[in-house]
Amino acid sequence: MSDAPTDAGPAESQPFTAEVSRLLHLMVHSVYSNRDIFLRELISNAADACERLRLLALQQPDLLGGEPEFRIVISADADRRLLTIEDNGVGMDRAALVENLGTIARSGTRAFLDAAGDKAGGTALIGQFGVGFYSAFMVADEVEVFSRPAGKDEAWRWASDGRGAFTVEAIDPAKAPARGTRVVLHLSEEGATYTDPDTIERIVAEHSAHVPVPIVLRVDETTTRPLADGSALWRKPKASIDKKAYTEFYNHVSGQYDEPALTMHFRAEGRHEYAALLFVPSSKPFDLFDPERKSRIKLYVRRVYITDEARILPAWLRFVRGVIDSEDLPLNLSREMLQSNPVLAQIGKGVTTRLLADLDRLSKDDPDTFLKVWEAFGPVLKEGLYEEPERRDALFAIARFRTSTSGDAWRSLADYVAAMKPGQKAIYYAVGESRETIAASPHLEGFRRRGVEVLLLADAVDAFWVRTALGFEGKGFQSITQGDADLSAIPVEGEEAAKEDAAASKAAVAILAARIKQALGDRVAAVRGSDRLTDSPVCLVASESGPDRQFERILSAHQTGGRRQAPVLELNPGHRLIKALIDRATAGEGEIVDDAAFVLLGQARIMEGEQPDDAPDFARRLTRLLEARLG
Ligand code: ADP
Ligand code: MG
Repeated sequence: MSDAPTDAGPAESQPFTAEVSRLLHLMVHSVYSNRDIFLRELISNAADACERLRLLALQQPDLLGGEPEFRIVISADADRRLLTIEDNGVGMDRAALVENLGTIARSGTRAFLDAAGDKAGGTALIGQFGVGFYSAFMVADEVEVFSRPAGKDEAWRWASDGRGAFTVEAIDPAKAPARGTRVVLHLSEEGATYTDPDTIERIVAEHSAHVPVPIVLRVDETTTRPLADGSALWRKPKASIDKKAYTEFYNHVSGQYDEPALTMHFRAEGRHEYAALLFVPSSKPFDLFDPERKSRIKLYVRRVYITDEARILPAWLRFVRGVIDSEDLPLNLSREMLQSNPVLAQIGKGVTTRLLADLDRLSKDDPDTFLKVWEAFGPVLKEGLYEEPERRDALFAIARFRTSTSGDAWRSLADYVAAMKPGQKAIYYAVGESRETIAASPHLEGFRRRGVEVLLLADAVDAFWVRTALGFEGKGFQSITQGDADLSAIPVEGEEAAKEDAAASKAAVAILAARIKQALGDRVAAVRGSDRLTDSPVCLVASESGPDRQFERILSAHQTGGRRQAPVLELNPGHRLIKALIDRATAGEGEIVDDAAFVLLGQARIMEGEQPDDAPDFARRLTRLLEARLG
């Protein structure tokens, strides 16, 4: 399939991949109202093709064949219902046509399909994604692509009616552009309006005015209308650019069609000179949690597009989109040079610093928009807390949390520290699967009773950063499920205080604790009384030295055979059941205390979403206790 035959053989028909067929079906059967976007997609591809050739021609100037100016020409023929988009970019040979137009090239498009699921939800999604070349079939019954690869004397015709198959054949090069690709749309009846020059002009102005290649509309044999000048938006002075232009450029550069939440446009001078035009999206792209953690910043060198694969920004900023255009880098950057380039690294540092500062400013100037960013990308930004400790302070400044007292509102660490209770020494947190499960955990009871706020950390990354973070404004982080929660220094609030004196004495609790520990043996590391609880009789916590229990749970889910540490069983001295057990223990009724010990341990595990160690034993003992009460 890779070797292109030079003789013009008969057209060969090939099926689309299954994914393409699904996408085409979605497109063609969608009642999506904004069909206009097909033009934006075709122009975007044409511009990419020009930029790719511009780069190749740096090494091989003869590829340009005496035609150094890049341009995109749109022409329409109302009588024959044709719309043509032609570029003088790299072009495609046979293999490229089959590969690029027969399969889904971009992972985003595939993600789109997965998200779309079935037709119903899909149509609404189309406008939010770069759906690519195939969107042409929203308006065309047939699409022909004539292409001549730059520097080659061969030409190809690809054609399809968008119904499952396409054909490719070699053609007389005279029938193709001198260089590049001509896409000819045979418009459907409803698509006929797209031959109207004013319509074309409007769509280009709306969606493609700032692609970095000039666009002209051929009105007739002799007249053309310029539609876009192809100048690099990022090079223009900020004051001359309006919000709409930024948004449109963001759409082009990212293939995402939401509004940017934050636009950052600046020129850096000094050690390294570069221009940056970067955007923070307002909604999540689908590959945000892809293991590759790819960033898609487009790197330019003196206006020549180089690559979108260079890692300029750290992985925890992979959602940032846009362009960085360097003055200092050589144009002939090799792959290796891109991997470890000190100039790029410096630029990355500078941009990161500015971005964090801008996000901080946004959080103050426009909290609602900032919270949208945090809701979408907070879990990614938090990766920076452990991957780049030197950025921790800046990240803590913008980090927002749900807490045990905040409801649906977001709190900053500064808010938290300002609301700390007299006598409170640490920033308390609880890690768990979701806000709801954490909020239901018995460990929170004592904190609630004292009005002590607890950070509810429900993102997967939380268990990681919080263990390495040293603290904030001199206050350490302390898990409520680990170690001895010394809450005795913080007074209990309001009417709850009255219940306090009913608690069993320390000495009495110690007697019961010793008996329970004896019964449970190595299943627990220790048994002790606790300030942590009010309504529940017991809970499990991790010992001071080991890892937090939730963290352990995450680790053992990822690696098999990891041995977990025995937890500490804490008793609530104020609970009726514990007091009753103290009475039994002091009366020497060991058997019932032992049964209760096992049942309480099993119950604490169940509360954490786990199983009792030995379910039959648990059931037997529970039955015995119920019999004693009911039998
Ligand atoms: P994407 O642009 O996201 O890769 P598309 O469906 O828009 O997805 O295009 C698929 C591929 O087809 C492109 O990546 C490119 O390789 C190729 N292609 C499309 N249009 C052109 C063109 N005008 N010139 C050269 N290659 C093109
Ligand atoms: Mg495209």
